[in-house]
Amino acid sequence: MNHDRSHDLFSRAQALLPGGVNSPVRAFKSVGGEPFFVERADGPCLYDVDGNRYIDYVGSWGPMIVGHNHPEVRAAVERAIGNGLSYGAPCAAEVTMAERITRLVPSCEMVRMVNSGTEATLSAIRLARGATGRMKIVKFEGCYHGHGDSFLVKAGSGALTFGVPTSPGVPKSLADLTLTLPYNDFDAATALFEQEGGEIAGLIIEPVVGNANCLPPREGYLQHLRELCTRHGALLIFDEVMTGFRVALGGAQARYGVAPDLSTFGKIIGGGMPVGAYGGRRELMSQIAPAGPIYQAGTLSGNPVAMAAGLAMLDLVSEPGFHDRLEATTHALCDGLEAAARAAGVPFTTTRVGAMFGLFFTDAPTVDTYAQAVACDTAAFNRFFHAMLERGVFLAPSAFEAGFVSSAHDEAAIGATLEAARAAFLEVAD
Ligand code: PLP
Repeated sequence: MNHDRSHDLFSRAQALLPGGVNSPVRAFKSVGGEPFFVERADGPCLYDVDGNRYIDYVGSWGPMIVGHNHPEVRAAVERAIGNGLSYGAPCAAEVTMAERITRLVPSCEMVRMVNSGTEATLSAIRLARGATGRMKIVKFEGCYHGHGDSFLVKAGSGALTFGVPTSPGVPKSLADLTLTLPYNDFDAATALFEQEGGEIAGLIIEPVVGNANCLPPREGYLQHLRELCTRHGALLIFDEVMTGFRVALGGAQARYGVAPDLSTFGKIIGGGMPVGAYGGRRELMSQIAPAGPIYQAGTLSGNPVAMAAGLAMLDLVSEPGFHDRLEATTHALCDGLEAAARAAGVPFTTTRVGAMFGLFFTDAPTVDTYAQAVACDTAAFNRFFHAMLERGVFLAPSAFEAGFVSSAHDEAAIGATLEAARAAFLEVAD
């Protein structure tokens, strides 16, 4: 493959954008090499500025669940654009969006639209703190909730009680208020709540972790967290920015039958436009300004073009059988990848939840903890990533990101991916 134009653009970008990109993982730092620059996207594919085509399993990191440039989403955006780009005053599409979200996700009796997943999660924890009068929050190792200060924190060594900033610029005094737990560990959560329960405002979790590869919850784990939060008067917050409308129409909370107090969304509800949302019980959401005293606002929130894209997307994912078909595609892909790895003698396994999947270079039969995910062979993943890219398949450029399939990934796309994988695994085995 020729990458001359991408290379030129990356050189120019590096002089002007930190790391040459506007979001870190795009820079290929963890897999090595240089990113390609996209010229256009259509169906299951990205096309770069050098004329190369890639079958895409990143899907803009989640939103493109119906494939790129879907004609119905595009038409909705074109219609909305005809009426102006932003009003700074309410519009009908915001009401329709709120009606749609609350109907699809019954734990959300009210919602507030924002502009990104990050905004949604940091607003949700402000609400949790404001509503409970408590200041500590609990998060999980390997979960990502955007780049709000309170989330850029990892567990301190030894003690559970004090978090350590993972980025310069995060105040230590704020990090001290974030407690970190190992995902899927029942006893650690029980112990933490016994010790700190009276001070915990809320617990935030990716119900299926998509930012440490793809880790499904163990049987009963989300229920266990629900019970702990209820018992100790803390709010349970599901960060469904990635899982919402993807792992089931009603998100992970519908798939696993656990109702959180608050939920955060993004990605799919914007149809590819910048959007986020948070929602929950009426009694909590009524405390948000101007209905209540907890402040949160946004110049572009509820933007009419973003609402139009999101509503068109929600129409498409609400079609009967949509998620079943997607899940069948994920299984065909993952079963095929496992078979190709076996044939090449490469230790490898996958996880799948709906239209999300994880790829693990390990001889463990399955992986569902962060410790297991980080113990996998990252170097083997990186070799596989490049071998696939060279054959026209774009996987997430990091061993710690979930992959996504879309309804545009048809048999031909999966077949071509598996053909590439058979050769790529042989390269990894060498
Ligand atoms: N929460 C989760 C689970 C995410 O995966 C992400 C982004 O990938 C975010 C929050 C942050 O969303 P955004 O990048 O739109 O700020």
